[in-house]
Amino acid sequence: MRLQDARHLIVPCPNVPRPVSKKTEMKSILDNNPELKHRIEQVAEVAGYLWQKGWGERNGGNIVVNVTDCLNSQLSTLNYQLSTPIAIGTTLPHLKGCYFYCKGTNRRMRDLARWPMDNGSIIRILDDCAHYEIIADHLVMPTSELPSHLSVHNYLMAKGSSYKASLHTHPIELVAMTHHRPFLGKDILTKILWSMIPETRAFCPKGLGIVPYMLPGSVALAEATIRTLDDNYNVVMWEKHGVFAVDTDIMSAFDQVDVLNKAAQIYMSARSMGFEPEGMSDTQMQELSEAFNLAK
Ligand SMILES: [Zn+2]
Repeated sequence: MRLQDARHLIVPCPNVPRPVSKKTEMKSILDNNPELKHRIEQVAEVAGYLWQKGWGERNGGNIVVNVTDCLNSQLSTLNYQLSTPIAIGTTLPHLKGCYFYCKGTNRRMRDLARWPMDNGSIIRILDDCAHYEIIADHLVMPTSELPSHLSVHNYLMAKGSSYKASLHTHPIELVAMTHHRPFLGKDILTKILWSMIPETRAFCPKGLGIVPYMLPGSVALAEATIRTLDDNYNVVMWEKHGVFAVDTDIMSAFDQVDVLNKAAQIYMSARSMGFEPEGMSDTQMQELSEAFNLAK
């Protein structure tokens, strides 16, 4: 998050960890763990797409992925840490002992795409559910948005969700559409975007939730995001800022944002040609919904 990260440049972070020596010498936690390696490669691939699409300028955007299931079999070998315990800033009871890959604070998506373990780290949530420690590969401090992302993961775990990935990014056309007040009512944008091309309705069946503008990194924004996800959305639009998406893995979270932004591009292309796009009719949308047994 740019604003929060920028503050870190001038205000010393109270949670800066002290390095501790590793008990076990390890080249990379990805070595001999093909499933974890695959997950991190997915993160890197998505980070590259975010940069190529112009959605990840400078250090914009964040990715946090729950990788606990990749590390269960290795728990006995993970008795080392790179940092002393760091306070999360909140207590998240459903994340006890969980492991997450987190983009590093002030790191660029375009760098993460090439060197994911140099621009992000894997953390372990401690038993008090209020602290974490960095365990691999390097002492890269997680994004300042970590408490918000972890709060969402805590919510997902509490409801028994299979979702493991959270993504925040700045898709240009979707953000542009939130600068128009009439679009910000509940499901106004959802209906416009769904009606641009059938695949949007099929592949983003829960539509696009809207959260009014709030200070980036604030507790209020995190809480509003969770309330909106709980209102049966996978993708939440932060007015005049960006999206927050969750899904089973990071590629699927990206796909939902990509599909929605494609619809926004089609809408804007039509408007650029000088006409209001007709959109699919309610009957056509209903037919699609029944044919594919869609969520809403
Ligand atoms: Zn942002």
